[in-house]
Amino acid sequence: MKVLAILYNGFNAAVKEPRLLGTVENKLGIDKWLASRGHEYIVSSDKEGPNSDFEKHIADAEVLITTPFHPGYLTRELIEKAKNLKICVTAGVGSDHIDLNAAVDHKIQVLEVTGSNVVSVAEHVVMNILALVRNFVPAHEMIERGDWQVSDVARNAFDLEGKVVGTIGAGRIGYRVLQRLVPFDCKEHLYYDYAKLSTEREQAIKARRVEDIEDFVSQCDVVTVNAPLHEGTRGLINEKLLSKFKPGAWLVNTARGAICDADDVAAALKSGQLRGYAGDVWNVQPAPKDHPWRTMKNPLGGGNGMTPHYSGTTLDAQARYAAGTKSILENYFEGREQEPADVIVGLGAWATKAYGQR
Ligand code: NAD
Repeated sequence: MKVLAILYNGFNAAVKEPRLLGTVENKLGIDKWLASRGHEYIVSSDKEGPNSDFEKHIADAEVLITTPFHPGYLTRELIEKAKNLKICVTAGVGSDHIDLNAAVDHKIQVLEVTGSNVVSVAEHVVMNILALVRNFVPAHEMIERGDWQVSDVARNAFDLEGKVVGTIGAGRIGYRVLQRLVPFDCKEHLYYDYAKLSTEREQAIKARRVEDIEDFVSQCDVVTVNAPLHEGTRGLINEKLLSKFKPGAWLVNTARGAICDADDVAAALKSGQLRGYAGDVWNVQPAPKDHPWRTMKNPLGGGNGMTPHYSGTTLDAQARYAAGTKSILENYFEGREQEPADVIVGLGAWATKAYGQR
């Protein structure tokens, strides 16, 4: 059986650090195991264009492994060319880089390692919120420059205590973010999600549901995005919705870049409508050198907490999603039932309720 994996290059770091499992060099740690079972395992980072390894090998691969960190974009057109493809496994969480409706139509199963990096991301979100609210990045840059002018950074630094924090999406990550914020004594925790939490779960994270998104954002000092990218969330945060935010609010998005309109976010930060924007996900990955989010700033020259996509790929997370990928493959080879929570698209049908109301 031919197994194709599109992973990111780890170069020297991956040679020196074998726990960087999600790299081309370390192959999710499953190369010897696959070889011992007689499978052909192709691993590459080369994913763009008709001459890429991705497009060449997808033509006859039965299994495709991808990762959200260096997404192999499996379009409907590619799915139509992938005559042998039966199963796509996302090493991580978030399978929007696959045309999921086309996978349904072509009876290709899509699975991800559900839960594998949700703590990793929730911790990153809490860090991003604190970095923005406390104006950490400009303060650190000042020190590196050799300057010391406390008022220049203190003029835009606040406490999180007493602020209203809201999450768009209160699933595994959104829930864990609010759970981790409980000791910070925020004024309120809000959530916007068509899936209501049980009263016990709401109480445990002190959360109140707001059903209208404009009403929701207008009440938040901090908005964090923790919903998958699908038809209902693509471009959700655009000029119109940003105009309903509290002036000077902070926005953190570690879900997917394309949930926000890139130019509208950059303009809102420039005007001060947003005081800060942070996250690790981009509408195109790797992000082009001139992407506006790399350098955008608020009127005081700060408010940018962007990083490359790495919140869910800590070494701890890599161990979990590598093990989860192997277990999904084992189930597939043995014809065993998969963990229901891992199935995004089953044979010819959506299996999850998290990718929008259908
Ligand atoms: P989850 O399935 O547990 O929760 C997603 C929640 O979003 C669900 O409760 C769902 O009802 C809700 N939702 C869906 N559409 C919505 C909408 N239009 N408005 C409001 N809520 C909506 O998923 P999760 O494990 O919490 O992960 C969420 C997303 O985070 C993933 O799909 C992925 O895109 C992203 N993620 C990013 C990283 C990273 O490294 N940056 C890592 C893991 C996951």
